[in-house]
Amino acid sequence: MSHRIDLLPPTCPAHFARPRARPLARPLARPLSPTTCPDHFARPLSRRFPPTRHTPPIPLRSPWKPTANEPKLSDRRSTWSSAAAALERASSVIVVGGGPVGVELAAEIAAARPHLDITLVSRSKRLCSAMPPQVHERCEAWLECRGVRLVLGADVRELSESGCTLADGTQLDADVLYQCMGFRPATGALRTHFRERLDQSGALVVNEFLQLKPHVYAMGDAIVHRASNELKLAHTAELNAALVVENVRRQHRGDPLLTYPDGIVGSDRSPRVFCVSLGPHHGVVAFNGLVVGGVIAPITKWLIEWTKVAACAERPVGVLFWRFGDWFSCLLSRTVLRPVGEH
Ligand SMILES: Cc1cc2nc3c(=O)[nH]c(=O)nc-3n(C[C@H](O)[C@H](O)[C@H](O)COP(=O)(O)OP(=O)(O)OC[C@H]3O[C@@H](n4cnc5c(N)ncnc54)[C@H](O)[C@@H]3O)c2cc1C
Repeated sequence: MSHRIDLLPPTCPAHFARPRARPLARPLARPLSPTTCPDHFARPLSRRFPPTRHTPPIPLRSPWKPTANEPKLSDRRSTWSSAAAALERASSVIVVGGGPVGVELAAEIAAARPHLDITLVSRSKRLCSAMPPQVHERCEAWLECRGVRLVLGADVRELSESGCTLADGTQLDADVLYQCMGFRPATGALRTHFRERLDQSGALVVNEFLQLKPHVYAMGDAIVHRASNELKLAHTAELNAALVVENVRRQHRGDPLLTYPDGIVGSDRSPRVFCVSLGPHHGVVAFNGLVVGGVIAPITKWLIEWTKVAACAERPVGVLFWRFGDWFSCLLSRTVLRPVGEH
């Protein structure tokens, strides 16, 4: 049996008009209300940023995700270089968003540039709020210990190249501002044929077989699979992909399809595995309810990255590592270390 696989490069800018490339200073979030944010500013800003020396700000965009204008590695290198140069010149930084990306970014900057004024603003009242409470506590303690100011439970109303305005009108200014508020799925190109499968956020709603319709599957960050409601991670994208591959084979043979996630992990919940780095030598690693902090996190992350790259290059060391790792993590998750909390 052979299948034709077409990998389409993102060459058409019209298809990639991502929502985050929106104009500056546009209202971003719903307004604060006592019900949505009861302890807004329970942690008041200890001080407002003083005016900082003028430095040309970088364009308001997220340098860690490629845009349609950066199809080549050389384009990405140029983006990274100008972002690094802007950070080099800065004396103050604002990170907007308290999920893993914002936390890791703030921690990297705090570790590499301890003299900088760093403020992390987040609508959620805890950092990494989708993760277990020990993760919130460890991330907050680590950042506060390094002088990062946390402004939690605060809605950002407007962004500009050098600051943001909170819903109560408080203005925060800095030389560089990074947006880490998550990404809307890049599903614009699918609106014509799959409009009825898109939810309000633009995610593709799949059925239990990860299908949009018979013979059309979707996976990864672009989908929402309501029964599992998983975190959007590379790990879960891979589980999605493994099930889709198996279902394509089964469909071809006329066999019954597997349902997600039990068809691939042997349980109705997939293992929740993640690692949040806090600078180069610290972090938090979690497997379902088990959370461990310290130097084990960067070592784990390094091991995962190294072996993943080896597996992608089809080197036996990587392939065998992940064949065993995937089997063992599913076994652990079904037996002694079951997922905790809600779906
Ligand atoms: C800064 C950052 C750090 C992260 N760290 C981790 C981590 O430590 N661990 C972890 O598990 N996860 C992490 N994630 C999440 C992880 O990267 C994603 O969950 C994962 O990449 C999802 O894979 P995907 O294939 O669904 O989407 P992507 O990796 O985003 O790939 C989508 C691809 O589709 C292409 N594309 C989009 N639209 C079109 C179109 N119309 N036509 C053709 N091509 C198109 C894009 O160019 C891209 O190549 C991180 C994410 C970010 C942003």
